[in-house]
Amino acid sequence: MELLKERIRRDGKVKGTDVLKVDSFLNHQMDVELFAEIGKEFKRRFAGCEINKILTIEASGIGIACVVAQYFHCPVIFAKKTQTKNIAGEVYTSKVESFTHGRVYDIIVAKEFLGPGDKVLLIDDFLANGAALEGLAQLVKDAGAELVGGGIVIEKAFQPGGDRLRAKGLRIEALARVQSMNEETGVTFADD
Ligand code: 5GP
Repeated sequence: MELLKERIRRDGKVKGTDVLKVDSFLNHQMDVELFAEIGKEFKRRFAGCEINKILTIEASGIGIACVVAQYFHCPVIFAKKTQTKNIAGEVYTSKVESFTHGRVYDIIVAKEFLGPGDKVLLIDDFLANGAALEGLAQLVKDAGAELVGGGIVIEKAFQPGGDRLRAKGLRIEALARVQSMNEETGVTFADD
């Protein structure tokens, strides 16, 4: 998606070797008009797919997922991060290792919002090692729902998550695939 790639080139900030900061339009301040274009693009890519729920993970996925859902005309569920142990049987739960914080946490979704018969699109801001998307996919599986695919705004294609999850058969559509990052020279994209 050219508009998104231009924005990343202009406003993205590379930290170290593997972190891209996009706080000015995606992760802190949010450009909702850009989000609308992102929503249209996911709708185009998943055209013809039956989708009745969008599932994302708090916190940074929520804003994007809400705008995207307007194009799919369906509700958004966000998996909550929790450190609570021994959670009661009313929730699906799985573990995610955080890329940005380096620790493992549980994510939960209430059983009343996800179940057999649901056709689910996962949405997230970044795909790096794939732990977040994999944790969400596990919740969908545990719920007996159908996993239609994953819509990712920025995939860091030099990290292993995308390849691993595609190899497992998950359809992933990433709107910008970063091939390399450098603090001085910026980013290059996989399809440039
Ligand atoms: P993964 O689970 O695929 O390793 O990482 C995905 C999650 O980590 C995303 O939900 C995102 O919040 C965060 N993340 C991973 N890499 C980056 C990055 O380069 N920049 C930002 N801002 N977040 C990232």
